Amino acid sequence: MAKVKAKAKPHQITLRCYNVGFGDCFLLTFHYAKAGSPQKDRHILIDFGSTSRPKPFEDDARHMKNIAADIGRACEGKLDAVVATHRHTDHVSGFAGQTGKMIAALAPDVVIQPWTEDPEAEEEGTAPVNDPGQAKQALAGSLRNMRELAAAVHEAHKGGTTEMDRQLAFLGLENIKNEDAVKRLAEMGEGRYVYFGSKCGLEEMLPGVKVRVLGPPTLEQSEEIGSYAKDSEEYWFAAVRPMALFWAAQAGMAARASKGKRLFPKAETRQVEEAAEEVRWFAKRAEAEAQDQTLGIVRRLDACMNNTSVILLFEAGGKRLLFPGDAQAENWMYALRRLEEKGEIGLLEEVDLYKVGHHGSLNATPRSLWAKFRKKGGAEMEGRLQSVMSTKPDKHGSEANHSEVPRRPLVEELESESELLRTDKMEKPDGLAKVIAIPL
Ligand SMILES: [Zn+2]
Repeated sequence: MAKVKAKAKPHQITLRCYNVGFGDCFLLTFHYAKAGSPQKDRHILIDFGSTSRPKPFEDDARHMKNIAADIGRACEGKLDAVVATHRHTDHVSGFAGQTGKMIAALAPDVVIQPWTEDPEAEEEGTAPVNDPGQAKQALAGSLRNMRELAAAVHEAHKGGTTEMDRQLAFLGLENIKNEDAVKRLAEMGEGRYVYFGSKCGLEEMLPGVKVRVLGPPTLEQSEEIGSYAKDSEEYWFAAVRPMALFWAAQAGMAARASKGKRLFPKAETRQVEEAAEEVRWFAKRAEAEAQDQTLGIVRRLDACMNNTSVILLFEAGGKRLLFPGDAQAENWMYALRRLEEKGEIGLLEEVDLYKVGHHGSLNATPRSLWAKFRKKGGAEMEGRLQSVMSTKPDKHGSEANHSEVPRRPLVEELESESELLRTDKMEKPDGLAKVIAIPL
């Protein structure tokens, strides 16, 4: 009988969940190596960033370097691919500076980012938008303006003492340009800029594994759903065209406004303090409202960036692993609709491991997505859904307005319906990685 040559496929997946504090860092290893087999294991790093180091390493500047070194050991000096899901500081800061050099030295062949980071879209783009090419440029321009606004807001509010200052400084920091990291990512491997349905460069690298890109949608794709939408405001990408002009104006305004943090210059403030009580009341209200508006704008900006997140679904040996970055509802809506239309929604229903979106914020795990997962169930359930949440409480949002991250009702649901791993709760003396082994 002719000997059938077995097609290479992984026999195990290992997921290392690093505790970066507020941020994401996951090393996914597909094990092919076996005695007598020429196949090597494959290592994919998904995000490496932090806006706030974990306890008890808050004052330990070496923490991220220790993680980079551990990644180097775990992949035996060679990464096959890096995925930077989106350009938020808490996902890419590790690719800058010393830790960026350490990761670059692991020589990833491919660097996967959302199409919105494609340098070819990085042209000045504030002109009226009439064709897809221009729309792409306009989006790039508006993203650039958002980053400038974020930097101005961060500068103006860092070191401030109020809760509002804290929130504004944090959101500003999260959304800044991260030019160092972006430059390093562009140099360390072949860039692949992906979108729903596109190839991502992992296909040939991972025999026996199916990798699907489920997000973000392109402008053209999201325009398709824009026409379905009753409330187009709900669809982030559909709102991009007016947003491009909107953000250009905002960035200019913010650059002027942030030169002095206060609405009123100092001299005027002194006059206001000497003024009648009702004038002081009015001045205070006006300033509070200006801060409220800035917070609203910066929150929206944050959501826009999250919605550029790459969503990846890995399938191997009957197991499905879902890594959605920080994708929020608007990014998900396109994927959910298209998979329903194509009769492929089962791909999501059978997910075994879910990387919780956006550190546990409620709008990054849309209820319609959570409802799809079929492997939810109590602790006694066999083959129960595993969820992984990288987070640090008290950094983002507030309980008072039900925007705290991680959001309590979601955490309760994740705890009761899945096997939840939280990076902020994992007990590891070195504070590095928790290792999840998935036999195939
Ligand atoms: Zn994030």
